[in-house]
Amino acid sequence: MKVAVVGAGPGGALLAWHLAHDGAAVTVFDASHPREKPCGGGVTARALDLLPPAPPDDPLPVRLVETCRFESGMGHGVDVPLTRPVAVAARRELDGWILRRAVAAGAQHVCERVTEVDAAGRIRTGAAVARVFDVVVGADGAGSLVRRTLTGPTPKERLMMAAGWFARGTAPMAVRFVTDLSGYLWLFPRPDHVGVGICAPLAAVPTRRMLDRLEREVAVSFPALLDDEAPRYAHTIPSPSADPRSILEVAGARWALVGDAAAFADPITGEGIFFALRSATVLAQTLRESGSPAGYPARALEDFGRELNKAAALRDRFYSPGLARRMIAYAGRSRAIRGVLADLVLGEQGYLSLKRRLLRTGPRFLLETAASSLFSAA
Ligand SMILES: Cc1cc2nc3c(=O)[nH]c(=O)nc-3n(C[C@H](O)[C@H](O)[C@H](O)COP(=O)(O)OP(=O)(O)OC[C@H]3O[C@@H](n4cnc5c(N)ncnc54)[C@H](O)[C@@H]3O)c2cc1C
Repeated sequence: MKVAVVGAGPGGALLAWHLAHDGAAVTVFDASHPREKPCGGGVTARALDLLPPAPPDDPLPVRLVETCRFESGMGHGVDVPLTRPVAVAARRELDGWILRRAVAAGAQHVCERVTEVDAAGRIRTGAAVARVFDVVVGADGAGSLVRRTLTGPTPKERLMMAAGWFARGTAPMAVRFVTDLSGYLWLFPRPDHVGVGICAPLAAVPTRRMLDRLEREVAVSFPALLDDEAPRYAHTIPSPSADPRSILEVAGARWALVGDAAAFADPITGEGIFFALRSATVLAQTLRESGSPAGYPARALEDFGRELNKAAALRDRFYSPGLARRMIAYAGRSRAIRGVLADLVLGEQGYLSLKRRLLRTGPRFLLETAASSLFSAA
């Protein structure tokens, strides 16, 4: 089978690694490496579990973090030990590392940008005549050319905007709710600098005002990280809606989408690296077993899609001011609620079973807080 993978971010590079292992003739197109991608670079343990094994002479380039500080943005804060450490990486290093694994497994990396694609497997780059593949995979990120051409762009209401900078220095890992924007700001310590950022629904506020807000909060709470010289960035994060059809639209007879191109990030946390890796793994399994991407959307829906649909349904209520404040205040007093918070951020606690866990571990929290309304109509 001849497969073209457009884009060598985590999703495309991992897919190429799997397919090359399976003996497929895989060509990965991406002209951008080496490059940084605007990203917090937080890689949860469940995402690490999906990566290829690290060879002894090329270890995974990450920093492991074992505690995260959560702040309500209204005065409450709590340090939460993470049940499994989060790895934080510079994307230049992480994505390059996965691509090296794919090439070592036999994938061909073509350092060219794809300029045209069609549903019959034809690919054109600026530098070459059209080539035809059995299957074309769009792993080309939030602005995906493959997606725009074959099924249409991700609707605006399913986009989050994230903005920030990379600051010199170091800091503990921290997440602060910014409930008036329905989002949060973060500090993620990387091996040799700190990712500082903020995210919110694209429709909530203009990007410049998001950055102003981030700079104001950092100037007050973490002045050493303001780093006026660091260039500011802004980039979208695409997610599914609450409707399963937003998962089922990601493949045709000879094409498929993974990761951000498929709009598979978590609409509450913005976690996208795990879903890029997971969707690549599910697509690789489907191609291995049937030689066609046709069964991939239904498999993705069952594997992780329903969780994302549920997250989209809960999103607005999750960021209601009362819930964030009480959740952090409760977490300060209750180890069980601290555990729920950590597991939510790590993706170890699903949204579909969240109510059941809260009923079991924190019935008073559920009763006394807006968490009860979180589930009322969902
Ligand atoms: C500011 C910000 C912070 C984030 N923080 C986190 C975080 O801490 N943890 C987390 O899990 N997720 C985070 N995310 C989400 C995460 O960055 C994405 O979900 C993830 O990168 C998706 O991986 P991907 O492989 O699908 O696409 P990408 O990583 O976007 O890779 C796509 C690749 O395709 C290439 N490409 C694009 N067009 C073409 C073309 N026409 N031809 C060839 N190649 C092309 C690009 O150059 C790129 O290399 C964040 C996102 C943003 C914007």
